[in-house]
Amino acid sequence: MQLHNTLTNKKEAFAPLDGQTVRMYVCGPTVYDHLHIGNLRPLIVFDALRRYMERFKGWTVRYVQNVTDLDDKLIARSADTGTPVEALAERYTDAFFSLLHTLHIEEPTQSPRATDHVAGMISLIERLVEKGYAYARGGDVYFRVAASAEYGKLSGRRAEEQEAGARIAASEIKENPLDFTLWKAAKPGEPKWDSPWGEGRPGWHTECVVLSREYLGDTLDIHAGGSDLIFPHHENEIAQAEAVGGKPFSRFWLHNGLLSFSGDKMSKSLGNFAYARDVLERFDAETVRYFYLSRHYRKPLDYSEEGLIEAQKALARVRTMIDEIRSEPEPSTAEPLSPEGGAFAASLAAHRARYLAAMDDDLNTVGAIGAIQEIVSETNRFRASAAPGDRPALKDAIALVRELGEPLGLFQERAEGPAGIEDDLMRLLIDLRATLREKREFALADEIRDRLAALGITLKDTAQGTIWTT
Ligand SMILES: [Zn+2]
Repeated sequence: MQLHNTLTNKKEAFAPLDGQTVRMYVCGPTVYDHLHIGNLRPLIVFDALRRYMERFKGWTVRYVQNVTDLDDKLIARSADTGTPVEALAERYTDAFFSLLHTLHIEEPTQSPRATDHVAGMISLIERLVEKGYAYARGGDVYFRVAASAEYGKLSGRRAEEQEAGARIAASEIKENPLDFTLWKAAKPGEPKWDSPWGEGRPGWHTECVVLSREYLGDTLDIHAGGSDLIFPHHENEIAQAEAVGGKPFSRFWLHNGLLSFSGDKMSKSLGNFAYARDVLERFDAETVRYFYLSRHYRKPLDYSEEGLIEAQKALARVRTMIDEIRSEPEPSTAEPLSPEGGAFAASLAAHRARYLAAMDDDLNTVGAIGAIQEIVSETNRFRASAAPGDRPALKDAIALVRELGEPLGLFQERAEGPAGIEDDLMRLLIDLRATLREKREFALADEIRDRLAALGITLKDTAQGTIWTT
């Protein structure tokens, strides 16, 4: 398959280095708030890539995504709300995993928390200092960009350009305005760890280097995230990883385009903003996925209510076909396939090939969805005149739509029906119970759990949030 590599700015043939396991790292959430709709794009897009590789390419994907639970934003939010950093991080980590579940996004193979790996970050910074790539100043440690000959190779920014951009942020402390922070000295009241440079905490750019190398090794197959991370985050990751590892950090760098909001840049202060969970109250998971995957992942995507309504209609067309064919009665006697039925069955293979070609072409989900919609059109045309003996061919068409929809997380659910509502109702009760527990209304929270248990439904609190089973 071909993937566009930001590092070379070209589409290149992709296969995992060892031929079997794709080592993939996707920058994860900073857990200081609920996710907004812009955050959903990399989650959905790279979930589709992972699933396609697993289902159709025969590779195993080791998908590692960090949870940033120590960060300036968390500290600021904690100061604003009076909630301790750890409690905030826990609340929004739970909300993140609950959102993955709602959106039918597969959980990462591993989701390391930054705070569990501070020792590893300190030792990486120590090695950078030893090798002359970093220096300590006043309790902080900075990366020495001048020591990294290839700095700027991912973003394509030349050193002079960057210097002009960074001038505003220049400080007396740094040797060069481009030098970035690896370790920050603690201010009073902030979370802190002991280090050779005094109490403080590691910077975000170091976190991803340490976590990806720890779980996936020196060279990743794919490092992915939003295109807003190319500079400085990913550029700074490469500089550190290659300085200590002496090997290419990641073979492929994949970046999704950003989201605009009805034509404007998304901004909380301008009101051009939506939380993912609010959108999911009005549109189901498949509609939201359909909307995001209806545009190529590298292009900018404009979020709009109309776009979601269109996705809902397009999805309904497929679901209606599936439901109608399923509800047709089985013929009572076995009849042979008609010649037209035979031709229809044979045409399905060509649509499957089109889908595969699109997905292999830099995850062209637009073409892939187009191929699926073409199956629906052709099936609907054929159904009008199908003979009773053609029923197996119609059932094959449904099976194919569901098979091709699986990596996209589409067409697995019925339009309506008990299954969808049941899950929605259970999410409602689980969220209600979580709110009660936050308010320390433990008796009521326990009553919800106990009465569900009496109905044969078990709630289980896991590290990834509460799940239910019958
Ligand atoms: Zn990262």
